[in-house]
Amino acid sequence: MNQIPSLKDQSALVTGADSGIGKGVALALAAAGAKVVINYAHNQAAADDVVAQITASGGEAFAVQADVSHEDDVKAMFAQMFARYGTIDILVNNAGLQKDSKFIDMSLADWNTVISINLTGQFLCSREAAKEFIRRGVVEDRSMAAGKIICMSSVHEVIPWAGHVNYAASKGGISMFMKSIAQELAPHKIRVVGIGPGAIQTPINKSAWDTPEALDKLLTLIPYNRIGKPADIGQLAAWLASDQADYITGTTIFMDGGMTLYPGFADNG
Ligand code: NAD
Repeated sequence: MNQIPSLKDQSALVTGADSGIGKGVALALAAAGAKVVINYAHNQAAADDVVAQITASGGEAFAVQADVSHEDDVKAMFAQMFARYGTIDILVNNAGLQKDSKFIDMSLADWNTVISINLTGQFLCSREAAKEFIRRGVVEDRSMAAGKIICMSSVHEVIPWAGHVNYAASKGGISMFMKSIAQELAPHKIRVVGIGPGAIQTPINKSAWDTPEALDKLLTLIPYNRIGKPADIGQLAAWLASDQADYITGTTIFMDGGMTLYPGFADNG
């Protein structure tokens, strides 16, 4: 994908854009011409650094603090975006985390935190974006759609994950959330799409790649035999947000080097 689709004059909001995949997505959307809101929860310096990278390459961005699981924060974040950019064309629901433990040891607090941020956060942000898309409608010289929502899911929307039950449940929930709002919003010319990353090299899964032994073990799950990079997901997100993907809605695109091909069955069964 060398030819970057144009997102010129469009404004985008990427949640959790100060790190990892969100940062990769924000950089890719900005490279395609979008103005980008860099949402962060706690690390303002990291968010400012992403803004600086974008502006240094001639793009436009600013950082907004908000906890996506808090309704007031989300509303205030959208108000700041509308005050600066007037509207929203692209929402990337990326913020997410893990709180891992054996199922029988999992606290209610860790269950609630993961569901609140990974799933409820997508609900709160998508609702604000959809209201604005419907109010404004299609702007023909910007995009064929009235708006695009990209939901960062995971291969764990389909692969069960022992020891990570709250995380897998949140991603399974995102799948049905994404499809249901895609069905409801399509008549308004709003597209909703999921991205299901496999193993992407970010802080969330550092222990799975930061030693040669861990990386070798991880690669047994990836037929294509390399770990993904945030830029891989960034390019996909920029394309999905563009009119080149105008007929795609209500489905998850897995970008996983074949992790969802059940590689354990390649020579067994
Ligand atoms: P990361 O830890 O680098 O980034 C997570 C981001 O979410 C950070 O920017 C963090 O600040 C933000 N965040 C956490 N809680 C927040 C909150 N309450 N409000 C706002 N932002 C919050 O990890 P990542 O790998 O870049 O993860 C990004 C997304 O990709 C997550 O949804 C994750 O589940 C998904 N994902 C990652 C992988 C992978 O292999 N890295 C695979 C599949 C899916």
